[in-house]
Amino acid sequence: MKLIDTHCHVHFNAYKQDMDEVIRRSLEKGVFLITVGTQADTSRRGLEVAERYEGVWATVGLHPSHLCEQSFVDDEEVDPSQTQIIKTRCEVFDPKVYLPLAQHSKCVAIGECGLDYYHFPEGCDPEAEKERQRQTCRAHFELASKVGLPVVIHSRNAHKEQLGIIKEFLDQNQLQRRGVIHCFTGTLEEAQAYLDSGFLISVTGIVTFSPRKKDQLESGLSLLQEVVRQLPLESLMVETDAPYICPEPFRGQRNEPWQVITIAKKIAEIKGISFEEVAEVTNTNAKRLFGISF
Ligand SMILES: [Zn+2]
Ligand SMILES: [Zn+2]
Repeated sequence: MKLIDTHCHVHFNAYKQDMDEVIRRSLEKGVFLITVGTQADTSRRGLEVAERYEGVWATVGLHPSHLCEQSFVDDEEVDPSQTQIIKTRCEVFDPKVYLPLAQHSKCVAIGECGLDYYHFPEGCDPEAEKERQRQTCRAHFELASKVGLPVVIHSRNAHKEQLGIIKEFLDQNQLQRRGVIHCFTGTLEEAQAYLDSGFLISVTGIVTFSPRKKDQLESGLSLLQEVVRQLPLESLMVETDAPYICPEPFRGQRNEPWQVITIAKKIAEIKGISFEEVAEVTNTNAKRLFGISF
């Protein structure tokens, strides 16, 4: 059975020692993957990796958490020994830099881009930062509209504003290819609003985590599990976000793209359907959104 991990970062520093092994391990298990850029250099590197493998694609974009001047470099993402500036690395989104990357034949989407209001590094002015995130998100949407690619949206604690920006673009007949809300953790109403705009919802290993007692719904499920149970399979994709968010029972370890199998199995269990059905329908959704075949 084939499956596709629609969002991972297999070209990050976390796989510096064994990236090719990790990719091969996933491909051997029938898991294809899309490796997602978060800055100009990781976007470039992702494309280089995708060039080398059939069944590997990439996206290019600037993650909303990389805009604040005080943001810390994530050692999992880039090698701190290779950068002079360790703690004050930031990037201003320059469409001129990203346009040629977006036109690469292995580039299947723009992102991850979006809004992350969850956490602002110390020393950042949250209001100024939010405004910068909104402007940067719009610049990504413009690029996606221009090159005719879908967007991969990272949205945390900001669904209302994120939906507002999406609507701005849809009202102008832009974002023709729509996109996906990656690592979705919002409410059913928020998910529904994205679906109404023609977007897909993507589910990570968080769906395998048992809810804490206080977060447990009457059904015994977590909020995310309940959302997944209720949403039509036609609106869902699966992703690992590797190296982060390793599913149970390996929570806390370095994640790998083949773990998307564990996530699809959990979705099958929650929805009371077969793993094959989850794989088949989410594959179709991914093929259609990203314009790929496998
Ligand atoms: Zn993300
Ligand atoms: Zn990610």
